[in-house]
Amino acid sequence: MIVDRSCIRFNSVDEQRLGALAAAIGSLCPKPVSIISLRGHLGSGKTTFARALLRALGIESRIKSPSFSVAEQYEATFGPIHHLDLYRLDRPDAWRAAGLREILSAEGLCLIEWPERAEGLPAADLDILFEWAQEGSPEGPRRITLQTPKDPALLEQLARVCKQPAGAEPSDRRELLLGLGATLLIGLVSRPARAVDVLGVRIWPASDYTRVTIEHDTADLVFRTQLLTEPDRLVVDIDGMTLNPTLRELVARVANNDPYIAALRVGQFKPGVVRMVFDLRQPIRPQVYSMPPVAQYRHRLVVDLLPAQEQDPLMSFLQSYEQKKSGPNAGDAPVQRLVTIALDPGHGGEDPGAIGKRGTREKDVVLRMAQALKKEIDAQPAMRAYLTRDADYFVPLGKRVEKARRVRADLFVSIHADAWVSPKAQGSSVYVLSEHGATSAAARWMARKENESDKIGGFSWISQDRQLAQTLLDMSTTAQIKDSIRLARAVLGEIGDINSLHKRQVEQAGFAVLKAPDIPSVLVETAFISNPEEELRLRDDRYQQQMAKALLRGIRRYLAQNPPLSKSGLT
Ligand SMILES: [Zn+2]
Repeated sequence: MIVDRSCIRFNSVDEQRLGALAAAIGSLCPKPVSIISLRGHLGSGKTTFARALLRALGIESRIKSPSFSVAEQYEATFGPIHHLDLYRLDRPDAWRAAGLREILSAEGLCLIEWPERAEGLPAADLDILFEWAQEGSPEGPRRITLQTPKDPALLEQLARVCKQPAGAEPSDRRELLLGLGATLLIGLVSRPARAVDVLGVRIWPASDYTRVTIEHDTADLVFRTQLLTEPDRLVVDIDGMTLNPTLRELVARVANNDPYIAALRVGQFKPGVVRMVFDLRQPIRPQVYSMPPVAQYRHRLVVDLLPAQEQDPLMSFLQSYEQKKSGPNAGDAPVQRLVTIALDPGHGGEDPGAIGKRGTREKDVVLRMAQALKKEIDAQPAMRAYLTRDADYFVPLGKRVEKARRVRADLFVSIHADAWVSPKAQGSSVYVLSEHGATSAAARWMARKENESDKIGGFSWISQDRQLAQTLLDMSTTAQIKDSIRLARAVLGEIGDINSLHKRQVEQAGFAVLKAPDIPSVLVETAFISNPEEELRLRDDRYQQQMAKALLRGIRRYLAQNPPLSKSGLT
C-alpha cells in the first residue's frame, strides 16, 4: 500500500537549526497556527523544540516539563500558551475529565505532546513529527516532518516562513535548499520505499513463555516465519530492514537461563531482509504477530515462544507443596483442608502499569508485595499461595483467571497501584466485580484502565481462551460477587490501619481479571503511585511488608467467618 502525503521534511536538524525552525514557526502563532501537535518517540526532541518555541515567543520564565503535571501554562503577549503532555493519560478520553477540554477551546496557543494517547482531540493546525535521522543515534541530528492536517494551504505559508527560495513550487519533488541550512523536501512521502526503523528490542524470558519484541515505525510490516526441526529452530525474516546495532543488541540480551531460547542469530539475509534464527531448547509453538501503536509504544512485532505442550499450573503448584502437606504438622490436628489463595500481581513485561514521578513501575512494586504476601500466607499452617506471575513478564487477564481456576484457588487477590492525573489523589481502595454497571464513574474508569492491560502487554495466543472466558462470564456471578464483597470489606478494614483509604466502601466495576465465577475475587489498589509520597511508600520494603501483613489479616478474617467448603479432588 502506498500512502502519499504532502509534507515539509527537514532531514538533518541540529540543536541550532531546531531553534531557527522554532522561531520560524513561532511567527505564525497563535494565528493561523494555534494548536501544534508534537509527535515522536521518547527523546526524539519534542520537548527541546517546545522549549525553543516558547523562548522564541518571548517566554522568559523557567520552562517546566509537563511530563508529570500534564499541563503547564505561560503568558505570552498574545495570551496564554498551554504546553500539554498527554503521555501519562491512562485512558484516551481522560483528557476531558482532566479539564483539558477548556484549555483546548480557549484563546491562545496550545502545544500538545503525545496527542496519540488521546482520542477526540480537536485537530491540530500543525503536526510535527520528530525522528532520529540515524537509527540508534538519539544524540545526533533529527529528522523533522511538518504536516497541516486542517488546512493544506498553510503548508505553503510555512514553507515561506522557513525561507523557501523564491520560485520553488511547494508541490515539487525536488529537494530545496532552505534558508535555515537544512534540506527542505516538499512532496510525496512513499512509505514502502522507506526502510523500517527499529526503535527498540526487548526480551522477556519466563517459564510460561519467552517473548521477543521488536518496536519499529512501520505499519503493515512484512515478515515470514518457519519452524524447523533437528535441531529445533524458529526463523523469522523481516522485509525492509537493515541490520543495525539495535538489532544486534538482541543477541546479547538472550539470558543464559532462557527456558526456550538457547541462542539467537541475527543477520542480513539479503538486501532489505533481516533474518533472525532462534535456536531452541525445546519444541515450541510460536506466535508471531504485529501490534498497532498503543500507550507509549509504536508498532511492535511480537515473537512469542510457547511450549509445544502447554504446562499445567496445577502440577508444578502441587509439587511445590508436596512437602508442606506431609510435613510434621500434618498429623497434629483433625484433617484440615489447605486453603489456596491466588495472588495476582498486575501487569508485567511489556505492560509496566502506572509509572510514578520517580520512575517507579507498578509492575515491580506489586510483584514485590505479592511475593511478600505469598511468604506470609505460606507460613500459615493451613494456607498456601499461588502467584499468577512470579517474574517480570506479561500474563493476559483471562490467563490469570484461568490459572487461578486450574489450581482451584479459594480466593483471588489482584494487587495493583493506582494512578491519576492529579498527583494529590491518595489512599488505598478495594474493588470487586459488578454485575450491573459500576458503582461510580471513577470505578468504571479504573476498570477500563486495568482492562487495557492486554492491549499494552500484548497477546494473540489467548484467543482460544477468550471463548472460555466468555462462557465463564455467562455463568452466574451473583454468589461470587456477594462473597467478594465480604472479602473486600475484611481487607479494606485491615488496610485502613496502615494507609488512608481512597474510598471507605467497596467499589464495583467490570474488571476482567475478577471474573472467575466460582472464586471470590478482589482487586486491591494498594496506593497511588502518581502521588509522590505514596510512590515513596510503595518502594519502601517496610510498607510492602505492612501491606502484605494487612492483606493476610483481611484474608484470615474473611476465612474465619466464611470457612471454605471442602473441594473434591484436591486436599
Ligand atoms: Zn494496575
